[in-house]
Amino acid sequence: MDFAENGTAGIEQELDWQVPLYEEVHRHPELGLAEHQTSAAVAANLARWGFDVRHFGGTGVAGVLANGAGPCVLARADMDALPVTEATGASYASAIAGVMHACAHDMHVVALLGAAKYLAEHRDTWQGTYTVLFQPAEETAAGSQAMLDDGLAAGIPRPDVALAQHVMPTEAGTIGTTPGPVLSAGDSVRITVHGRGAHGSMPHKSVDPVVLAASIVLRLQTVVSRETAPGEFAVLTVGAVTAGATANIIPDRAELLLNLRTYSLEVRAAMIAAIERIVRGECAAAGSPQEPEFEYYDQYPLTSNDAEANARVTAAFTEAFGADAVYRTAPQTASEDFSRIPDAFGIPYVYWVVGSVPPEIYRRAVANGTVDADIPANHSPSFLPAVNPTLAVATRAQAAAALAYLAAQPG
Ligand code: ZN
Ligand code: ZN
Repeated sequence: MDFAENGTAGIEQELDWQVPLYEEVHRHPELGLAEHQTSAAVAANLARWGFDVRHFGGTGVAGVLANGAGPCVLARADMDALPVTEATGASYASAIAGVMHACAHDMHVVALLGAAKYLAEHRDTWQGTYTVLFQPAEETAAGSQAMLDDGLAAGIPRPDVALAQHVMPTEAGTIGTTPGPVLSAGDSVRITVHGRGAHGSMPHKSVDPVVLAASIVLRLQTVVSRETAPGEFAVLTVGAVTAGATANIIPDRAELLLNLRTYSLEVRAAMIAAIERIVRGECAAAGSPQEPEFEYYDQYPLTSNDAEANARVTAAFTEAFGADAVYRTAPQTASEDFSRIPDAFGIPYVYWVVGSVPPEIYRRAVANGTVDADIPANHSPSFLPAVNPTLAVATRAQAAAALAYLAAQPG
């Protein structure tokens, strides 16, 4: 008897209600902190299945299912959509102009609901406490903090482990796990540098912030190439440079928007120190009349899996899906705010990725070297996970990962 038979047998029957619900949620996407309908549907279902439902951070929902003594598992899904106009042509495409579930959070929601119902209906097979958490506003990095600020840590039983997953444009039917870093820490920085404005014909009367900003952009390229060890991962992108409005006026300031990604908090701190040093140095070299300003925003924590918990969950996936379906994923350069929740409790967590592209399409693109060109990724208006088998795999993954703790033999 394999794990699928003794652990999550029959869970695919949940698809009968999951598929219509998924299409319904996909059709009605809601932006971060405005997930009112999604949140209400989640809460109503959880209450019906016997979960003790609590609300945190506005639209955030936690459902607690206490089932005797034993471990406490927290599983999380994010609920928010993106300001994207859907271009998939699906029969269940977004009915809301300019809003789309382009990051599969709708699938995360319905998969976790499927695991929740399954565990509620199979209480005789496990012991402990299963807490499901539906988080708002992952895309703006605000949602997990909003739930914590609203008393989440004191408002649910203290978990022993936390679980989360993300649907990705990799081969459907596969699951990727890894110990250690799986998603990067992300930081955005708004830098304002000051010059002295003048008529465009009289540059000698100015401190030109356009030239200053250009010099900063070039010098910042050395933070990764010259200051970060070659084996370390670091990204520094200057995504926007804004200064001036017309040809014959030298403006008095420039603004730069930077995005950073790192897998190590030490590398992150060193990058931030280097950026501030370079900007201050270039401002001094230019004779800038005022100190530069740094504003840090859209900050995402590092997501780094606990090695022991990852091994336990990976073993459960291997039993549930077979060794061929489970692979070790490389860390992704994307970022997530999930880890703030386990970090608030000081507990280990596991975050894994679920494939969503039909195997024949994915394998052809890999063979042709055209994955990036041919396969729409998360946040693309054309991103559309294959419902079959992605929803079933994501559902079983959440149940199997939870049962790796809840159904464990005592001792
Ligand atoms: Zn996203
Ligand atoms: Zn996402």
